[in-house]
Amino acid sequence: MNDSKRPTPTNFIRQIIDQDLVAGKNDGRVATRFPPEPNGYLHIGHAKSICLNFGIAEDYDGTCNLRFDDTNPHKENIEFVESIQRDVRWLGYDWAERLYYASDYFEQLYEFALELIRAGKAFVCDLTAEQVREYRGTLTAPGRDSPYRNRSVEENLDLLQRMRAGEFPDGARVLRAKIDMASPNINLRDPTLYRIRHGVIHHQTGEEWCIYPMYDYTHPVSDALEGITHSLCTLEFEDHRPLYDWTLDNITIGCHPQQIEFSRLNLQYTVMSKRRLTALVDQGHVRGWDDPRMPTIAGLRRRGYTPESIRDFCDRIGVTKSDNSVQMSALENCIREDLEERAPRAMAVLHPLKVVIINFPADSREDLVARNHPKYDEMGTRLVPFTREIYIDRQDFAETPPKGFKRLVPGGEVRLRYAYVIRCEEIIKDEAGEVVELRCSYDRATLGVNPSDRKIGGVIHWVSAPLALRAEMRLYDRLFTHPTPDGVKDHDFKEFLNPDSLHILTEAYVEPSLEIAEISSRYQFEREGYFCVDEDSAAGDPVFSRTVTLRDSWAKIEAQQAAGKRT
Ligand code: ATP
Ligand code: MG
Repeated sequence: MNDSKRPTPTNFIRQIIDQDLVAGKNDGRVATRFPPEPNGYLHIGHAKSICLNFGIAEDYDGTCNLRFDDTNPHKENIEFVESIQRDVRWLGYDWAERLYYASDYFEQLYEFALELIRAGKAFVCDLTAEQVREYRGTLTAPGRDSPYRNRSVEENLDLLQRMRAGEFPDGARVLRAKIDMASPNINLRDPTLYRIRHGVIHHQTGEEWCIYPMYDYTHPVSDALEGITHSLCTLEFEDHRPLYDWTLDNITIGCHPQQIEFSRLNLQYTVMSKRRLTALVDQGHVRGWDDPRMPTIAGLRRRGYTPESIRDFCDRIGVTKSDNSVQMSALENCIREDLEERAPRAMAVLHPLKVVIINFPADSREDLVARNHPKYDEMGTRLVPFTREIYIDRQDFAETPPKGFKRLVPGGEVRLRYAYVIRCEEIIKDEAGEVVELRCSYDRATLGVNPSDRKIGGVIHWVSAPLALRAEMRLYDRLFTHPTPDGVKDHDFKEFLNPDSLHILTEAYVEPSLEIAEISSRYQFEREGYFCVDEDSAAGDPVFSRTVTLRDSWAKIEAQQAAGKRT
């Protein structure tokens, strides 16, 4: 809604593309891809990559493919394949008919492997995984050639064909590129191209294959087969770029995309690696991949985030090569600003305290008009019933008020939003001395007008006690207590899980107009925050998730009052 007006900020990648277009590279074509591995749900870090790749395609009149990088079948499954498509679509992007799987290319990848062998650029190696590691050398010491490196082309062709035919067990042999065991770049020390994996059923190719190509070999070939022009990936692949280029330079393929790296998004007080997110789900630390505390797209959606707010966030953080750790408040500000504009207002009382209006007739009700949005008339109005018994929030009453407290106090007055000014006449306590009820009077002359003879300090929200809907409120806090939970030496990230990240209120009340609120609809509960109807809601039994708190509920309401607006 509000991001379409804003131009996408430029970045170094767009500048490279601009230059390529000026130079007439790729016949003026721009083709990108988003290549997730279907081994988990997408998270906010992926959103950065999605917005970058699909955003460039949109702005340059190009294309962006969705390609599943599915070369690790034992960790992947169809649930992830489906959730990824759902999430990319929800973010507002469309790959049209260009949905691909790296596994679509398994046969071609195999043919290219044969080509490498014939050219003397790949060999079958019988070293064990441990020996391969040992031979590889270190950052400071060169590696040593495998004793199998000089096998004849015929022997290599025969062995790879037999690997494919299933003649050897897992780990018995691998296919390796023949590059340079002394290279300062370890990725070029005869990297593995294929490994044997028996007994896995691939979600796309079933049991057709028992050898699987490695990512570093599959990725450039897939990019080239799809005619990608700019292959955008995160910085950890910078050292892999020479291998990306080597692969394409040594096979007969008519395309050589340019790999460009940018920095990953890191968000404070959460973790982003799929391995860690999987652990949180599998070990029951959260209620699932779409738990509203998770940094996943599905979690943010359930929490009440809009696609526009996430795209706005990705625009704001930008794309650079420097490592960045972004504050959670940067993400929260985006959803706040979006919902401020478009979430209808409603009233909800989270910590109810009963108030009896002693001069309002029992069994009577008055339907008062409330605006759905303070700024936008077109969002309309609704009726809120006023009755003799109402609930206000416990925190809006203080028997011994702190300095500057502008809400209800014994003998004091406060305005009920959209209704009247009430005065607290009497406090009822239980045996333990806790306030359980207030008896108040209301001033009939104050509907929509302030009394001329005295100043009313505050405005509070309320709901009708007999007519309100009881609701469950789920209030979320950060999932971790440490800004970088996975970066603390000698500590497991789970040690920093916040034990109070979920706070459930089962005795909250919302105004009756919310009876028809649909799952996923979003509201601003005045003075409380933005909330979203959770899918756990049942008819007459709503559950709300707090998306985000209001920045400063008081400042706004007081300013409105000072401006003499109807409250
Ligand atoms: P993870 O470590 O979470 O498993 P990954 O890089 O292995 O991440 P992929 O599914 O391979 O996950 O990622 C698909 C694309 O999203 C890749 O191009 C990757 O570079 C990009 N991506 C992943 N995480 C981030 C992030 N935090 N910030 C920006 N881009 C990311
Ligand atoms: Mg990956």
